[in-house]
Amino acid sequence: MSEASFTCQRCGHCCQGEGGIVMTARDQERLARHLGLDVPALLAGFAESAQEKIRLRAGPDGFCIFFRQGRGCGVHAGRPDICRAWPFFRGNLVDALSWEMIQSDCPGVNREAGHPLFVLEGVAYLYEHGLVHEPGPEAPRALVLNEALKLRRKP
Ligand code: SF4
Ligand code: SF4
Repeated sequence: MSEASFTCQRCGHCCQGEGGIVMTARDQERLARHLGLDVPALLAGFAESAQEKIRLRAGPDGFCIFFRQGRGCGVHAGRPDICRAWPFFRGNLVDALSWEMIQSDCPGVNREAGHPLFVLEGVAYLYEHGLVHEPGPEAPRALVLNEALKLRRKP
């Protein structure tokens, strides 16, 4: 992903940590298809459930089970929506302070471009790639936009 306000540096920081990568049913089907598995096999091998959500497991190194050191995401074409959307999460779009804070972890965010452009490009990117979710039990909360953000969508 490359926008004026963000260009991924492939550092892998966002693939580190446990519990962040929730998967919707659509995510599960896409990733299972990518791996040549059925959904039950995907869930048995690579996922766990917590707080009524299905999420990817972490490996022993603390990174996502599909992260490959030095190579990045091992399932890039099949990765879940939450991975496709970062760093354009609702919190970073509505709050300039959050946007500033993520810059220490995500070197792809272009501080010079400013938060207003990050919002404009982020909302456009999310819609363009079908990453905006409606509220619901399995929806990744970070991808449910509020009304003010929806209004930022370009006609
Ligand atoms: S932390 Fe940011 S720059 Fe690094 S891999 Fe993730 S999205 Fe890309
Ligand atoms: S699925 Fe890929 S992009 Fe998403 S956390 Fe795992 S390694 Fe990173």
